[in-house]
Amino acid sequence: MTQTVYNFSPGPAMLPREVMEQAQAEMLDWRGTGLSVMEVSHRSKDFIEEVANRSEADLRELMSIPDNYHVLFLAGGATAQFSAIPMNLMAENQTADYVDTGQWSKKAIKEASRYGEVSVVAASQKDELVSIPSQDSWSLNSNAAYLHYTPNETIDGVEFHWVPQTGDVPLVADMSSNILSRPMDVSDYGIIYGGAQKNMGPAGIGVVIIRDDLVKTPMPTTPILYNYQVEIENKSFYNTPPTYSWYLISLVFAWLKKQGGLEAIAEHNKNKAQKLYGFIDENDFYSNGVDLSCRSLMNVPFSLANPDLDKLFLEQSAAAGLANLKGHRLVGGMRASIYNAMPEAGVDALLDFMKSFAQKNG
Ligand code: PMP
Repeated sequence: MTQTVYNFSPGPAMLPREVMEQAQAEMLDWRGTGLSVMEVSHRSKDFIEEVANRSEADLRELMSIPDNYHVLFLAGGATAQFSAIPMNLMAENQTADYVDTGQWSKKAIKEASRYGEVSVVAASQKDELVSIPSQDSWSLNSNAAYLHYTPNETIDGVEFHWVPQTGDVPLVADMSSNILSRPMDVSDYGIIYGGAQKNMGPAGIGVVIIRDDLVKTPMPTTPILYNYQVEIENKSFYNTPPTYSWYLISLVFAWLKKQGGLEAIAEHNKNKAQKLYGFIDENDFYSNGVDLSCRSLMNVPFSLANPDLDKLFLEQSAAAGLANLKGHRLVGGMRASIYNAMPEAGVDALLDFMKSFAQKNG
């Protein structure tokens, strides 16, 4: 294949080309061992030093994670944490507060409701545009075990550009689709977690960053793999972790450091999003249904004024090397996911296509 293909998939998403090339070069002989990293023990010195310890150190450096936080790399993606969080954090008879800003919030709420009482303290509103209500309208419970929210809703393209203030109630954030996209203050949070398959690596693994005072004895029925105490004691090695995914994560973290870290990647992400939203806003052929205050810098859903053209748009964009632009089935239309690894040239190619499609069909 000679045509450059840009992958706008929401996840599993594109990985940096340099990372894929390094993985390809090391596939059969990792670090001179004559073995693939897939074939070595997670307990080998090489794996511990070069993948497990290095990825944790790099993540700590990239996000400036304070020392009183643990970092776990766990199988099961973000969905596993939808259950692990209430099981580890909700004491008997305690409630948990949740903010509902879209499809992933709803899934987290549904799962937590199986383990205790959940109070939905705020929900995104859809008038003409989708928006997040300001915090003064939320009904927070000062005795809640935690407040959970989804800083970036991958399907709906709704992102918080502010951090909820919860006083002594720990703030828990599902950052699956915006982790590492910009600097943030980890100390604002009790737990940050996310699946890897957008900004960190391939699917099958997730990261959990947890403040040490929140590590306590979980509900008695908690499966051993969801027990944070056990995973912390075992440095995420209670059982065999998804070693190859973890290895790729370590390469992505090294790549991110080479890009200049989170300040630099934030600039890159802002530029891409501004270009795309700017173009969508300046013509009548395309539109985005999210309020300016909470548009996602990672996932840009957009519709065509005439939905009868959706099929043609998708066929022709795919033929032009712009892959996976179909919106989620619950939202319809299109969605361009432009995570860290998407180069500006990918967004430029998409804009060229969108302009010429509008000219031909408008
Ligand atoms: N939360 C968010 C915000 C997501 O985007 C996703 C996956 N798209 C999930 C949770 C679920 O992640 P996983 O498939 O890794 O369990």
